Amino acid sequence: MLNGKVALITGAASGIGKEIALVYAKAGAAVAIADINLVAAQQTADEIKAGGGRALGVAMDVTSEDAVNAGTKAVVDTFGALDILVSNAGIQIVNPIEDYTFADWKKMQAIHVDGAFLTTRAALRYMYRDDRGGKVIYMGSVHSHEGSKLKSAYVAAKHALLGLSRVLAKEGAAHNVHSHVICPGFVCTPLVEKQIPEQAKELGISEAEVVKDIMLSDTVDGVFTTTADVAQTALFLATFPTGALTGQSFVVSHGWHMQ
Ligand code: NAD
Repeated sequence: MLNGKVALITGAASGIGKEIALVYAKAGAAVAIADINLVAAQQTADEIKAGGGRALGVAMDVTSEDAVNAGTKAVVDTFGALDILVSNAGIQIVNPIEDYTFADWKKMQAIHVDGAFLTTRAALRYMYRDDRGGKVIYMGSVHSHEGSKLKSAYVAAKHALLGLSRVLAKEGAAHNVHSHVICPGFVCTPLVEKQIPEQAKELGISEAEVVKDIMLSDTVDGVFTTTADVAQTALFLATFPTGALTGQSFVVSHGWHMQ
């Protein structure tokens, strides 16, 4: 399905990004595992290569203009092109607004919003060449559409991705570039596992209550979304053959948010 395609996935050394890398590689793509954690990125790349796939671990802090440009160039130098960007790297810092430090606020915007911009701009330099085109997929969240207590910086940043994606859908159309935001509900990855005790402490409730009464309370079935659910959506979007789908947001959340 993705034979001959090259994908660059940020934050692909763990969680959702890693699963997308494994699924894309299985579908035939050459995948660049771009992450601030190079050791883990190389382990993921080795795992893919051991299974017969093509992969490259790339050191990339998505907040660094130089690192993003150099890492993207290294991918094109290695694999000859860039067809799919999944801008996925992210972190979470929870705190009520009155206690949220400006440094943490800026860190959140830098990783989620600056990172999305920098990786997009770097990728377009190759995707726009000869109007070759490509797919840009941002990892948003249900928090691209909903607010939640303690998550001001995250919610603001994830909403911003919708704006960037919609502008790219309009600008990229002439160059055959299509743009999407995937908006998962809670997925059990290290990012979420860290939040459970933090939220329990902040809200004065048990960890089981955080999962049942906060994280999954608005789903239709009380079930976590999985990395596989998100990766299948990312595969569908990467392989969609026309520009009929662009500028869209795909919510994968067991009905937590319905559009
Ligand atoms: P994760 O912690 O498992 O993985 C995140 C990866 O990003 C890690 O490998 C980390 O090293 C990398 N990373 C962090 N900062 C980076 C930087 N500056 N530059 C490059 N890489 C960096 O988290 P995850 O749950 O897989 O999250 C991936 C994305 O999915 C994030 O954007 C997150 O906001 C989003 N998301 C997660 C959930 C969820 O419930 N887990 C839900 C909705 C959206």
